[in-house]
Amino acid sequence: MKPREVSPYKLNLFLQCARQYYFEYLDPQISPIKREIKKKRPELEMGNCVHDSLTLFFKKPLEERTRQTMSTVFKNVWEGPKGELWGFNSIEKERQCYREALVMLKRFLKNENLNPSIFALPVSPPGKSFDDYKKIPFTEDLELGGKIDRVDITPEGSLEIIDYKTGKEKDGTLQLMVYVFLAEGLFNKPVSKASYLYLKSGGWKSIIPEKILHEKARKEILEIVDKITIEAEWSPNISKLCAYCDYIDFCPAKEEAKEFIK
Ligand code: SF4
Repeated sequence: MKPREVSPYKLNLFLQCARQYYFEYLDPQISPIKREIKKKRPELEMGNCVHDSLTLFFKKPLEERTRQTMSTVFKNVWEGPKGELWGFNSIEKERQCYREALVMLKRFLKNENLNPSIFALPVSPPGKSFDDYKKIPFTEDLELGGKIDRVDITPEGSLEIIDYKTGKEKDGTLQLMVYVFLAEGLFNKPVSKASYLYLKSGGWKSIIPEKILHEKARKEILEIVDKITIEAEWSPNISKLCAYCDYIDFCPAKEEAKEFIK
């Protein structure tokens, strides 16, 4: 079945494992109750807290963008219903994630421009990223969606997209190109640069989205959508990523998949 909408998450889920995609979006028994099935993951929660802290930090006036402000903002963001409810099975795990997050934020303060010309930020942190999920028409019967972490504007009037990453560095840039399409559709301005900022290492990975990249990304997105549309088997694709799959207990390959859970 052809999806009516795709996002970087959805495209990636299908590429990782068609069966996981099926559980999430199509399985008549599992998909309607996926919110109850999905587990809270400490690393994911930590990442959300870091993203929300950076957004709230940049909503402060420049003179308040200090180390003290960042610590206070982060502490307040973290003081949600943490503990086991959020996947932290021990106080040690929670403290470890807290420390890791704080190191990333301090590195950011030390190395990055704290006075960028910000054009757009998420409107609703902490904890309501769903409200910042935006969609644009991509083809006649397909929408493109996603949530952009930060958009800056250059003196020439073009946009620069920044996507914060709290996990490992990866190669693909399709996610960035989806955000380029989104920003151009939402704000009606050209995008001159789109970057991942890896908060653990402080490394940047940037693309200049020229016409040829637009064409390549458009083709790639539509090819994945075509594959989803004609997929019939929804076969499991067993890999180390099974360890993070919320549907492992329902998976026809669960015995093999569970080998990846330490
Ligand atoms: S457990 Fe692994 S193979 Fe099974 S659905 Fe999840 S990701 Fe796919």
